Amino acid sequence: MNTVVLKFGGTSVGNVDRIKKVCKIISFYKKNKKRVLVVSSAMSGATNDLVKISKLISHNFDKAEYDTLVSTGEQTSCALIAGRLNHLGIKSRSWMSWQIPVETEGAHSAARISRINVRELNNFLKQGGVPVVTGFQGINNKNRITTIGRSGSDATAIMLAKFIKADECIIYTDVDGVYTTDPRQYKNAKKIKKIFYDEMLEMASLGSKVMQPTSVQDAKLNNINIQVKSSFRTNTGTLITGLKKSFSDKIITGISSTKNDAKITIVGVKDRPGIAASIFKPLSKNLINVDMVVQNISQNGKETDLTFTIKSEDFKKTEKLIKKNKKITYKKISFDKNVSKVSIIGVGMITSPGITYRMFRALASKKINILVISTSEIKISVLVSRENVKKAIAVLHKEFNLD
Ligand code: ADP
Ligand code: ASP
Ligand code: MG
Repeated sequence: MNTVVLKFGGTSVGNVDRIKKVCKIISFYKKNKKRVLVVSSAMSGATNDLVKISKLISHNFDKAEYDTLVSTGEQTSCALIAGRLNHLGIKSRSWMSWQIPVETEGAHSAARISRINVRELNNFLKQGGVPVVTGFQGINNKNRITTIGRSGSDATAIMLAKFIKADECIIYTDVDGVYTTDPRQYKNAKKIKKIFYDEMLEMASLGSKVMQPTSVQDAKLNNINIQVKSSFRTNTGTLITGLKKSFSDKIITGISSTKNDAKITIVGVKDRPGIAASIFKPLSKNLINVDMVVQNISQNGKETDLTFTIKSEDFKKTEKLIKKNKKITYKKISFDKNVSKVSIIGVGMITSPGITYRMFRALASKKINILVISTSEIKISVLVSRENVKKAIAVLHKEFNLD
């Protein structure tokens, strides 16, 4: 008998009617003689509300208690789903991660699932029951509740699919698949039928919220095919899968953009070996992720300018760390919070020269100024002023024939 993992996101379980709808989807799989394991996120907004309350209590909320708090939304949604399934005559029960347990490693709020003891879940599945498991949470080796990063229920579903050796893993969300760019931002976005892990990983990491980046990494490492579908509509979704021999016929598969980047420029820093390391050491110690970096060629051989980007939420901390860094001297420091990264992604880029030129030419045709550039084998990212993001997406979407 086929086993399927179904994951439902926050909007899909956002109110009573939606929970009823989700239970209809689950009953459909049961009627088709599948073993069904459900993973659910918290009802939409619930986790954000908990985060807000924690900030009212303390800006320095104890990390372990924070995870204990923000993971509670999933308990509610899972109990409601299991309750409804029982109402419909489908044997079901909820499982909190600690009851299974879902073991995690790493820091609070950014833990990774390392092992899941699936014995009880398997027994329940064999008896025809539908386990409903909380996404997003786990426990660590001190038996404390952890969380695995915002939007982490995607990763819970994929790791459960791995450990119960599921035949299918379906991510139900509020759009009917992965699109060439966020369909809520650009109306000509098109649904992608099939996308490779590496492309999805880049898109997710570069701002396409539809899948959590870690979950795509987990799927790639464990070779788990994922389907992304809508819990509101019945049409076919997107398959996320491994790269097969036949390359995609498209050069660019998708376009992503971010909303939470900030740019810092340090003007007139001493141009000597080790200076960049001195700037970035305290940032790395404070777990601040530096993303794009450019260092201008020194005009006089003595001083140079260094520009880099970080996440907006790390902005204040970074400013403080640079200003109190005694190891560096500079003339001026400037900050810009109104920037966004726009990226084009596609494995087809590997075999097609001239993509960078086409991207820059298209942006120039709309007078969009490029602030910083970074590239990898399958993506090109540019930092632009946030007011230009929509325009940039539209012109690039057309340039690479995605419309
Ligand atoms: P869930 O709560 O189900 O996990 P998310 O809000 O995390 O849902 O992800 C779905 C959202 O992702 C969509 O509503 C859409 O606006 C956004 N999104 C961003 N980029 C894309 C894309 N390329 N394709 C589809 N959706 C995208
Ligand atoms: N409820 C958690 C969040 O909002 C996890 C998830 O939705 O996947 O981040
Ligand atoms: Mg999500």
